[in-house]
Order: sequence, then C-alpha cells, then structure tokens
Amino acid sequence: MSDSVTVVWDDALLGYTMGGDHPMHPVRLDLTMRLADSLGVLSGSRVQLLRPTPADVQLLTLVHDPAYLDAVRRAPADPSGVGHGLGTDDNPIFEGMYDAAALITGGSVLAAQQVHSGAAQHAVNIAGGLHHAMRDAASGFCIFNDAAVAIAWLLAQGYQRIAYLDLDVHHGDGVQAAFYRDPRVLTVSIHQTPLTLWPGTGFPEETGDPDTALGSAVNLALPNGTDDSGWLRAFTAVVPSVIRAFSPQILVTQCGCDAHHEDPLADLALTVDGQRASYRAVHDLAHEVCDGRWIALGGGGYGLVRCVPRAWTHLIAEAAGRPLDPDTEIPQSWRDDVRRRGLRAEPPATMTEGGYVGFSRWDPLTENRVDRAIRRTRTASFPYFGLDPDDPRD
Ligand SMILES: [Zn+2]
Ligand SMILES: [Zn+2]
Repeated sequence: MSDSVTVVWDDALLGYTMGGDHPMHPVRLDLTMRLADSLGVLSGSRVQLLRPTPADVQLLTLVHDPAYLDAVRRAPADPSGVGHGLGTDDNPIFEGMYDAAALITGGSVLAAQQVHSGAAQHAVNIAGGLHHAMRDAASGFCIFNDAAVAIAWLLAQGYQRIAYLDLDVHHGDGVQAAFYRDPRVLTVSIHQTPLTLWPGTGFPEETGDPDTALGSAVNLALPNGTDDSGWLRAFTAVVPSVIRAFSPQILVTQCGCDAHHEDPLADLALTVDGQRASYRAVHDLAHEVCDGRWIALGGGGYGLVRCVPRAWTHLIAEAAGRPLDPDTEIPQSWRDDVRRRGLRAEPPATMTEGGYVGFSRWDPLTENRVDRAIRRTRTASFPYFGLDPDDPRD
C-alpha cells in the first residue's frame, strides 16, 4: 500500500450553500483549506490533492430512493410542496442543490476508492459527513448521505466488516438507519444526549435490529457540558474496545467538530485541543485494527472562524502524518482574510486553546455524570462483543 494521503478538494464543493444566515455556511470549508494551505499542511510530501466528480444515480441509489433523487432535482424549479424534508428552515431549497450534494457524495466515494485500491493509506473529505440524510428525505442540513453511500460502495466491493465512527455532537442517525439491519456495518456514535439535542435519537439501547444485526449499533450519549477530559475518558472506555472486537477491515469516521464549546447549536465543551487529541486517537486506532485503512469525513461544525478551520486543519495534518504543534502561530495573512470577509468572530492567533487533554481511565468504582453515560453504553452494548461491562480492562 502506498503511504500517501488523499485530500479531496475542489472549490466547487463550496457550492453547497444554504443561504446567508444558515449555520452550514461554506465559508467554514474555504477558511479551513486556506488555513491548512497557509501552514503547509497540504504541501506535505505524502499529501495528494484530488478533485471529485459527482456521484451518479447508480451510486446515489445504493442508499436513496429514486423518487427522492427526482424531488431534489426538481425542487429549485418547483419548490412548493416538494416534500421529502426539502424546503424547510433546516433544509432550504437552493439552485444547483442536486449537483452540489452529488459532488460531495462523489468526494466521499473517491476517498473510499483511494483507500480501497491502496492508492492512499488514508483519505480525507472535509466537505462530507452529511450523516443525517435519510433514504427518502433531507434532514439536518444534509441532502445526500455521502457517508452511507461510500460505505454501501465498499460493501459492493465485498467488504464484510466496515466500522463507522461518528464524532459529531449530533447522533449519526442517517448512517445508523441505513445499516441498522446489516451486520456487516458497525456504527458507533458519540454525541450529546438526545434528551437535550436534536435529532432526539442515539440512546445506548439502540443496538441494531433485533432480528438481523443486534450489536451492530453502539451509542454513547454524553451529558451537556462534557469537556475534553470527560469526552476522551468516555471515548477510551467504549470505542476502542468495541472496534477492536468487531475487527473491521476498514474504518470510516465522521469528524463533525460541533462538540466545540463555542458551537452555537450544541452544548458540549471541547476545545480544539481535545478535538486534535480525538483525531490522534482515531488515527492510532485505524493503524491498530485495520492496517491504516481510514477514510475521514467532515460533518457538523458551526464555529465558522474559531473552531472548524483549526479543528479540521489538525485533522488533515494528523492524517498526513505531520501533526501540528498546538502552539503553532496562525499566519497574519489568514487572519486578515477573515477580517476582510466581515466575519464577526475574532480570528484566532494560534492552533491551541490551551485545553487540558489529560484524563484518567474509566473504572467501575468512580461515578460522575460522564461515568453514568459510559456505564449505560457498556451495559447495553458490551455483551454483544463478548466484553464485560464491569471490567475496566475490556
Ligand atoms: Zn452535528
Ligand atoms: Zn497513518
């Protein structure tokens, strides 16, 4: 296998734009690629930038109903009463939406193809990770579920065990739904508790279809306010164990960065330092369990200036094997660019927020709010993997 790392990018990916005040603003991707470029992350010797082509109907119908594709195609010309979740505040209709969503999906399939063929060890598509889209409906800013389509394409290549890991602050409901009955795909989602956050699913007791795929879904639902240390403690107490036990042939991660403390839509409290540590943990896990076959997608993240660009620049740098020192200074040219665009947030000066990323490992004796969440998930899921919910070594 080549040790190169594919970064999927084309400025045309910025065409996925839901309007001026919509939180899912493409400037977050533009600023990320510009920050990564200004820090030399994209010019590393192992990094290969590739432009995607749009996913065709054959690919999209691996996951989506043909009638839904037609609705998305027709919507801009005939927006009234189109249904399928389209034309709401969350999922506004916009000119070119079919092509923009198909291009993002094509990007995630390209990432999967690069890793499957061995042309790349890891592949990153920060425009992807639109994990809420359903078979026949747009949902949560997501039109086509690029993550599910990429996984379905991998299944068509003959994979028997694919692990999908979702770090977004929202439950990865669309991907879970797409494969809830399929024992070949393990979906693991770590998110803010559905008691306090949309979409209101992702309880630990959602563990896969009882008839066909029990144990194929793992959900870790964290209390509001969970910080870097708590998040990393919870991740470490659940995720490596189930993924090791599942023994995937390939790992797909949704790296939504809206668990950040300044995110306007959610209530967890990670810093970019905790997010950087999470990407390191995922990268290590990919090398440990599936020979480094790792596809990293973006996702949510609505801190357009202070969170997304730093978090995903760290992600790309980590995948490229040259992680950035947290104290790295951000070039003045990037900060000037932010100000020129009239964005309200103060551009950050460095790649760190000084977050404390140390944590103690979970044990069954201590109990705080995060530990209760850990215990509930271990109790619901661990027996399906032959793991002991009470044994901290599992
Ligand atoms: Zn999200
Ligand atoms: Zn690596």
